[in-house]
Amino acid sequence: MSDEKCFVFNIQKFCVNDGPGIRTTVFLKGCILDCLWCHNPESKSPKKQLMLNESRCIGCGECLRVCPLELHSFSDGKHLIERDKCTACGKCAEVCSGALEICGKEMTVDEILQEVNKDASFYKNSGGGMTVSGGEPLAHPRFTYELLKAAKGHGLHTCIETCGHAKWEDIEAILPFVDIFLWDVKETDSALHKKYTGVTNDRILDNLHRISEAGASIVLRCPIIPGYNDRNEHLTAIGRLAEELYGVTHVEVEPYHSLGSHKCTELGCTYELDEVSAPEDKTVEEWIKIIASQTKKDVRKA
Ligand code: SF4
Ligand code: SF4
Repeated sequence: MSDEKCFVFNIQKFCVNDGPGIRTTVFLKGCILDCLWCHNPESKSPKKQLMLNESRCIGCGECLRVCPLELHSFSDGKHLIERDKCTACGKCAEVCSGALEICGKEMTVDEILQEVNKDASFYKNSGGGMTVSGGEPLAHPRFTYELLKAAKGHGLHTCIETCGHAKWEDIEAILPFVDIFLWDVKETDSALHKKYTGVTNDRILDNLHRISEAGASIVLRCPIIPGYNDRNEHLTAIGRLAEELYGVTHVEVEPYHSLGSHKCTELGCTYELDEVSAPEDKTVEEWIKIIASQTKKDVRKA
C-alpha cells in the first residue's frame, strides 16, 4: 500500500471515449506540456486552484468577508481576485452559493481505486475499466505506476492517456500494467511541436517507437486545430506513423473545441485561441480521409 498522494481534478464515470467499454477516467493534475489549445487548463498546475464562474456570482459579498488574506474585491461590477496570493484554502468556496470552487483534491491510490471499483460490474459487462489521464499522468511517474499496478491487482483493464514526453524508464516501468496506451500526437513537425506545446516531439516519438517495439497496444489520438496543425503534411505524417508502428489499433481524430476558453476565464488565465472555431463535420471527414490515405489502419473521429 502506498501513502503517496496526488491532486485529482476529476474522476469521471461512464466514459465511453477513453478506451474500450464503459470506463472511469481519473484526471491527475499537473502537466509537462503547455499546449496552446489545452481544453483542460485546470489540469496544468499540479496544485489545487480556485475557480470563479462569474455568471453564477450573486454578489452576496460572503467571500470578501471570509478570505483571511482579503483577496476578493469588486470593481465596476467585476469580481476580482488577487490570484497570485491565493493559497487555495477553500474558505471562500465553502460559503459561496456556487460561483467559487476549489479544483483539485489530494487522494491516495487506495482512495482513487475505492471510487473506481464502485463501477466494477459495468466494466465487467462492457469490457471497460480505468483510464488514467490528466494533465499528464507521467508528470507523476511514481504515483501513476502505483495506481496502474494497484488497478491491475484489482483485475481492472487499464488505459493511460499520455503525451509521451517522459523518461523512457518511467514508461518502461508501467508497460506491464497498461493494456492500451492512448498516445497523443499533437504535431509531427518538431519545431512546430515546440511552438505549440513548449517542447519538441523528439522524445515523444522515440518513446512511441519504443513502446511499439515492446509490443504495446496503442491508439494514436490526434487533436486537430484549424490554422495550427490541420496542414496536409501533418495529416499525412500521422497516417504514415500509424502505418509504420506495430500495435496501433486505430487513429482517433479529435477536432478542436473551445471548452478550454471558459475554464481559462474561471482560472483567471488567458486563452490564446479565442479566434479559432470548431470545424464543420465535412472538414473533419476530409482530415480523416487524408490520414487514412496513408494507412490501412482504421481512422475515426474520437
Ligand atoms: S460568495 Fe460567491 S456568490 Fe457571494 S460574492 Fe463571493 S463569489 Fe459571489
Ligand atoms: S481560496 Fe482562500 S486564500 Fe484564496 S481567495 Fe479563497 S479564501 Fe482567499
